[in-house]
Amino acid sequence: MDASHELRTPLTIMRGEVELALRSTKDPEEYRRVLVSNLEELVRLSSIVESLMTMSKADFSQEDVQYEEVHLKDLIAELYEDGMIIALKKHIGVELRKNEDVVIVGDRLRLHQLLLNLLDNAIKYTPEYGHVYVASERQNGFVKVEVRDTGVGIPRNELKKVFDRFYRVDKARSREMGGSGLGLAIAKWIVELHRGHIEVESEPGKGSTFTVYLPL
Ligand code: ADP
Repeated sequence: MDASHELRTPLTIMRGEVELALRSTKDPEEYRRVLVSNLEELVRLSSIVESLMTMSKADFSQEDVQYEEVHLKDLIAELYEDGMIIALKKHIGVELRKNEDVVIVGDRLRLHQLLLNLLDNAIKYTPEYGHVYVASERQNGFVKVEVRDTGVGIPRNELKKVFDRFYRVDKARSREMGGSGLGLAIAKWIVELHRGHIEVESEPGKGSTFTVYLPL
């Protein structure tokens, strides 16, 4: 799946709607409906463009990476607070199981985005009253950060593909929730930028676990 297709679809929808609206005089309610629908597509387009830019940055300009000492414990504590707020509406409990005090060298903003993408997905793909668990601990020269959820899960044959750009297991569901299918591709890029690796385990109907290993 390529970027041009993803960008073209919302543009085609918007153009069609506007052309139709202009064809004859409509009542204000009708114009309003078109504007609301166009706004939805615009929001989607903006998020795709934003993600594409992040990705091209991660991809091409290594010099743009800001390496510094990052206190992962503080970063995760912050994310956990954000996660709790995002999860509130769905009555999902977010739990910080373990948060070891480790310092790694990395790009703070990108690490934040990486973990936020995982946490955001965990909440997005977990039904109401579910649970999300976050844990970080040292393991053999790495820090292992785990984001586990009790959500819809991912079929075995799709596990590898979820890290591909624009790949979505359930396109309709992801689209409905404003997903661009780029979150995990970006996550993987950021992990690799830090010479780490990312793994996923999942059982459909039970939940998923995304695990990131970053070198200490
Ligand atoms: P999206 O914007 O669609 O969420 P991502 O790249 O973040 O894109 O994820 C790709 C696809 O992987 C999602 O559309 C979804 O089908 C699946 N996925 C990601 N995280 C989870 C999760 N925690 N539980 C179930 N499915 C997930």
